[in-house]
Amino acid sequence: MSVDEEIPLARPVLGEAEEAGVIEVLRSGQLSLGPRVPAFEQAFAQRIGVPHASAVSSGTTGLHLCLRAVGVSDGDEVVTSPFSFVASANVCLYERARPVFADIDPVTLNLDPAAAAAAVGERTAALLPVHIFGFPADIPAFEGIGLPIVEDACEALGAVHADGTPVGGRGNPAVFGFYANKQLTTGEGGMITLADGAMKERIDSERNQGRAPDMGWLDHDRLGFNYRLSDIAAAIGLAQLDRLDGMLAGRARVAARYREALTGIEGLGLPCEDRGGDRRGWFVFVVQVPRELRRDDVIRGLRAHGVQSKPYLPAIHLMSFYRERFGHREGEFPVCEDVAARSVALPFFPEMTDGQVERVAGALRTVLEPART
Ligand SMILES: *Cc1c(COP(=O)(O)O)cnc(C)c1O
Repeated sequence: MSVDEEIPLARPVLGEAEEAGVIEVLRSGQLSLGPRVPAFEQAFAQRIGVPHASAVSSGTTGLHLCLRAVGVSDGDEVVTSPFSFVASANVCLYERARPVFADIDPVTLNLDPAAAAAAVGERTAALLPVHIFGFPADIPAFEGIGLPIVEDACEALGAVHADGTPVGGRGNPAVFGFYANKQLTTGEGGMITLADGAMKERIDSERNQGRAPDMGWLDHDRLGFNYRLSDIAAAIGLAQLDRLDGMLAGRARVAARYREALTGIEGLGLPCEDRGGDRRGWFVFVVQVPRELRRDDVIRGLRAHGVQSKPYLPAIHLMSFYRERFGHREGEFPVCEDVAARSVALPFFPEMTDGQVERVAGALRTVLEPART
């Protein structure tokens, strides 16, 4: 990549193994409901250390099936984070349940367990914590609240809890996402990890039109969806799983370079370091611009230097759909709103070179300095 070429936000690592896997599936003629899906599920379950995994068409569809599986339905409430990708709130609405937000921890940016506990009411049917930016949410604290839990681990492949359990490995249904910017990609796709075999049966049926596992092709004993992952996608996933450790190490290396290059800029917030034994699975490198600057000016300035960046993430409760539907207003979740207003995702991918990191860091310093004076 030449010096002047624009540095993209994200770029997947794909090679001959993925190509060979796809070609093999194409030549087999069995593009869906074939053997790659269970093979990918088993390899993924083993990686996370859980008895079961169910492959699905996306992280979003996985979250939807998990909410149904833990019994969320009409008129229920689900306590969740307003600082997340919009899908974790939207899936509650798919079941006509209401997402009830609670504020986040200012350091980890994850849903604050005390705030979540305070938001629990009579109609709360489940908690939906998000492992945001790959930093482990405090699942043991949420488990102490005593309600069913669905974990949004879509950004957290490779993250590890303080007790050594991989994120997604505590037995609660947990969902990973495989869109092209995630730690592992299948183009589109997702995976649910879980401990409960009966729950897996329900999920596997509902992802496949409600078909009973022991019944013939067109017999359906419940409402279902088409949330299947194709064998083409599963073949890519198997190849990606083989190279996962290398890709995670690449992300960790880039994060360490960024931290070196950006330490000491006054007022600039960096991602929190691993703490209390919890270890991040690096997904994005998000900085918070100093309070006296306008975030969108910083993004424009970076673009002028050939560096892509984006506001990441906006607060869900302040999105127009959520404002109009639920009457949300500024000031409800002050920590989330402050963080969301200042957050910028910088280019971040496993094969990013040290030179590219330096170019981004240099551009950011340049953009921040004159803007202050
Ligand atoms: C990516 C993501 C999802 C959903 O993933 P898709 O596969 O795009 O449906 C859900 N939650 C979070 C926090 C995500 O980052």
